[in-house]
Amino acid sequence: MVLADPRRSETGVHPSASSWTASDGAALYGLDRWGDPYFSVNARGHVMVQPRGDRGGSLDLVELVEQLQGRDLSLPLLIRFDDILEDRLERLHGAFERAIAQYGYPGRYQGVFPVKCNQQRHVVEQLVESGRRWHFGLEAGSKAELLIALSLLDDPDALLICNGYKDRRFIETAILARQLGRQPVVVIEQADEVPRIIAASHELGAAPLIGIRAKLATRSTGRWGSSVGERAKFGLSVPQLLSCVEALRQAGLLGDLRLLHFHIGSQINDIAVLKDALQEAGRIYVELTRLGAPMGYLDVGGGLGIDYDGSRTASAASKNYSLQNYANDVVATVRECCEPHGVTPPTLVSESGRALASHFSVLVFNVLGAASLAGQVPEAAGEEALILRNLRETLHAIETWPAAAGEGGADAGGGAGALEPLQEAWNDALKFRDDALAAFRLGYLSLPERGKAEQLSWACCRAIARHLAAMPAGTAVPEELRTLPAVLAGTYYANLSVFRSAPDTWAIDQLFPVLPLQRLDERPTRLGSFADLTCDSDGKLARFIDRGQVKPLLELHALRPGEPYWMGLFLAGAYQEVMGNLHNLFGSTNAVHIRLAAGGGYQVDHVVRGDTNAEVLEAMEHDPALLLERLRVASETAIASGRLGIGDARRLMAHLRSSLEQTTYLEEG
Ligand SMILES: *Cc1c(COP(=O)(O)O)cnc(C)c1O
Repeated sequence: MVLADPRRSETGVHPSASSWTASDGAALYGLDRWGDPYFSVNARGHVMVQPRGDRGGSLDLVELVEQLQGRDLSLPLLIRFDDILEDRLERLHGAFERAIAQYGYPGRYQGVFPVKCNQQRHVVEQLVESGRRWHFGLEAGSKAELLIALSLLDDPDALLICNGYKDRRFIETAILARQLGRQPVVVIEQADEVPRIIAASHELGAAPLIGIRAKLATRSTGRWGSSVGERAKFGLSVPQLLSCVEALRQAGLLGDLRLLHFHIGSQINDIAVLKDALQEAGRIYVELTRLGAPMGYLDVGGGLGIDYDGSRTASAASKNYSLQNYANDVVATVRECCEPHGVTPPTLVSESGRALASHFSVLVFNVLGAASLAGQVPEAAGEEALILRNLRETLHAIETWPAAAGEGGADAGGGAGALEPLQEAWNDALKFRDDALAAFRLGYLSLPERGKAEQLSWACCRAIARHLAAMPAGTAVPEELRTLPAVLAGTYYANLSVFRSAPDTWAIDQLFPVLPLQRLDERPTRLGSFADLTCDSDGKLARFIDRGQVKPLLELHALRPGEPYWMGLFLAGAYQEVMGNLHNLFGSTNAVHIRLAAGGGYQVDHVVRGDTNAEVLEAMEHDPALLLERLRVASETAIASGRLGIGDARRLMAHLRSSLEQTTYLEEG
């Protein structure tokens, strides 16, 4: 575990910078790196959204949330910025257009969106609509996704790539869709799909467009590295690929083999890996044309990464390349593979999901409260127990250091011995606290006295942390003292279920940027992590981005009574919603689609209400009506026996009924 530097952590930054501005806040949370060009901070310390990137127009996220709450859209709330989705599409196509021009590539680029990334109807519709001008298509990995793609993709020039396991009905549906005027490509992922495709084609007297997924030897280094290579779940090895070509030839279907596909895993961190894969696939493509397949398309799969922590490194939460680097490498490498052999360079297809869909949605949740170690120094009342007096003396010594120590101290230039008195005082405090516990066990100290002892020892801890925070950078701090600010960290209770809204934080330790939406112009004075609403101890956010590293605690502000503290979880538009589950029966959150309006301001395009309690109960085969009826009968019995008043029974039934109609999250206030 990497602990935050104490000089940064008590206060968030180096203390000698006594003033704090919104740009310090932006720097602290990395907003100026991963947020560019969509998220920034304004002078009021609020997070701003620029949904069209650098093409103008912005919204104050705090004001937006306030206004959405006025529309009865309670938190947690997923805000989808459809303009961002469109901007991502433009950037992707722009990057490929520039690369194609730069390298004089004689072919074109035609992408598809992998539906598994976010199957929400409004999201897929928006992508199809915004992508129409490029004939942007969809990728389906299951029969249900194929149904979505067939119904939403009405552009005859757009590709509909069919990956995943395919049975006879899936294949026949694809063949018939081709006759409907669509362009479904059935990608052979398993050797046993070949006879099914042949049989279906013969029976229907028509063939689908056929693709082959190659199992490349090139391995990605990231988390998904094991999804490729020899033991990969999908794709044909070279011998399988050759016998597949032969089988298609004999069946008279080789003329329909049009596409080579590969996918080396999601979130490719290192561009070098992609280049190797491209070379290998490019060579296979050339060989397939030599074997007599007409080909025409090379599909480089997904994997285009997102820089979650803004570090621009090959670490797990980042990537060491830009979108333009990616497009350049695809275009240049494929051209280099084809030209020497006189093969016409193919239309380039990619299946970027994460890179398109991550930025456009922001999950906003509120903090319900915070718990930290007892914050007060208890009043001394009369003659106190010796242990308590010892603790008070220790606290006094720490508070008056270095004057009391009479030497060195903060001016000692960082010498290793300078902090020895503090270290000693801390050792004393720990010893006295342990003594207090022992005395309590033996009956010499009362419970209130033990409580005071704990409060005093935490006061010692805080006093030391304050000293550390005021020290110049580079001061040598003993290891034990360095961890004190972490000991003092608080737990912030988040109105959210990570299993529902950010499951990858739990399942695969994925990092997403998390930060307050307001008070960025105010120095954060607390360190904390989040506990969610579920009763599961894994239901927490306790890993945060830290420029290529991970920190267990986030700099946060002290809560102010009566004032909301809103957090945003960013870059989670891909996979999170669809992987989320009903653990503890927390359902989907409210969601809205926001678009910048033509004359300034914004419009709310769609409102998608979160699951109600009744809906999640029904998902588990419970019957809300029966549940109400049972409790009605039970309350009648209680009324009859005089245990429950009629008024209270009515109140109970009213609470039950309205709970069933409400979302599964806590209401504010
Ligand atoms: C998951 C998947 C994708 C999308 O990958 P991203 O990393 O989100 O771009 C593309 N193609 C296939 C075959 C996939 O399984």
